[in-house]
Amino acid sequence: MLGWQLFEKTVMKLQRYGRANSFEPRRWFLHHAGLSVTFAVMMMMTTIAAAQDSTTTPRDPQIVAALRQISPSRIQATIEKLVSFQTRSTLSAQDPASIAAGHGIGAAREWIKSEFERYARDCGGCLEVKTDSFTEAPGGRIPKPTEITDVYAVLKGSDPESANRIVLVTGHYDSRNSDNLDITNPAPGANDDGSGTAVSLECARVLSQLKFPATIIFLTVAGEEQGLNGSHHFAQMAKSAGWNLEAVLNNDIVGGDRSPQQDTSVVRVFSEGLPSAATDAELRQIRSLGGESDSSSRQLARYIAEAGRAYDAGVKPMLVFRTDRYLRGGDHTSFNEQGYAAVRFTEFREDYNHQHQNVRTENGIEFGDLIEFVNFDYVASVARLNAATLASLASGPAPPAKVRLLTTKLENDSTLTWETSPGASSYEVLWRATTSPDWEHAQAVGNVTRITLPTSKDNVIFAVRALDNHSHRSLAVTPLPER
Ligand SMILES: [Zn+2]
Repeated sequence: MLGWQLFEKTVMKLQRYGRANSFEPRRWFLHHAGLSVTFAVMMMMTTIAAAQDSTTTPRDPQIVAALRQISPSRIQATIEKLVSFQTRSTLSAQDPASIAAGHGIGAAREWIKSEFERYARDCGGCLEVKTDSFTEAPGGRIPKPTEITDVYAVLKGSDPESANRIVLVTGHYDSRNSDNLDITNPAPGANDDGSGTAVSLECARVLSQLKFPATIIFLTVAGEEQGLNGSHHFAQMAKSAGWNLEAVLNNDIVGGDRSPQQDTSVVRVFSEGLPSAATDAELRQIRSLGGESDSSSRQLARYIAEAGRAYDAGVKPMLVFRTDRYLRGGDHTSFNEQGYAAVRFTEFREDYNHQHQNVRTENGIEFGDLIEFVNFDYVASVARLNAATLASLASGPAPPAKVRLLTTKLENDSTLTWETSPGASSYEVLWRATTSPDWEHAQAVGNVTRITLPTSKDNVIFAVRALDNHSHRSLAVTPLPER
């Protein structure tokens, strides 16, 4: 009896979410009454597993091959070089003599530029290397007018129709020690954020060997420790130039600090819930729809979770549904404030003795952000997860525009409409229970821009995503109601 009840409950649950619609559980059960309860339970498990599997993207062999090129030893060489500049404080030396001597943030900036230029030569000039320089006025943690320079490389999209779509990876190359105004004593910044800078550079080196329809930007910023100045300027520039920036991946402290409590199997991915750029009217709508967990940054986090399932990066994303850790901030928020989808990658467990500290030993404890605490295999795994996400997004079609859920009358069906996406050959409707963190169902609906499903919009959260001929997926877009 218990077996039957469990079976019926599960089938009913599946029916509620729009699956197994033509199934008559009681008839089936009676007909197969001779079968053991164990077998019935196995059947249910298989059905449930199949439903969940349908949200998983197939691997692209070209992306798999690219991920194999990501090299822990190249990442180690990058971080060693960054540490060799002794300090990369944003306030440290940038004069020609210091640059020539390989000391201070100016030398670091010039080296990063030369490294991007080297990758550009290796791909026949496919990367355009650029800088975004500005003078920050005194204030806060900037005692005098300071030149801040972001360095970046652009891998322009190969498809004229998609090249205006941009995905971006970033890390900050400035560093600090215990005193944020100290410009002379060592601030090695191996983990914070030599690791994130190395992720951006390694993604550039490897992905520049491939062609993508959409554009990828590999960014390294300065001024993070003084107040996110570099990313703030860059995000504002992107906004005022009207860039169609679909996704920003910020890597900050992804060195996998070698403390015994570290979990190297996961990397945290932080994403904001309520968009910081939302207007009051948008916030009211979010409140009435229960849309608190469906910002574009959260959809990006879910996309990363899916990339983590599809590709073997060596590390799994652990989604954290908040903007950042307590008492800390990062460059992704500069992009969030301009209305862009942006998330932060950070190692599972940070060791506060090894960040924002003067290099010293006290009572036998080593302080300082030293390279000996960085796990290069871990950084390489995080770089693979970033590269898989960037490559999937840049290969895929644009997310569907103007996604709407029709609410003209009271009904138990749900009708969704959207506009065709450049590069798309079909679409999928995703949905999940309102209490679930990630998509539970994906239904292929073909090359249409309108679909009616026998699932009540009152009970689930819907989204639509676009697919190309090779099953590359776009970001998912949740609908706005339309009467
Ligand atoms: Zn940092």
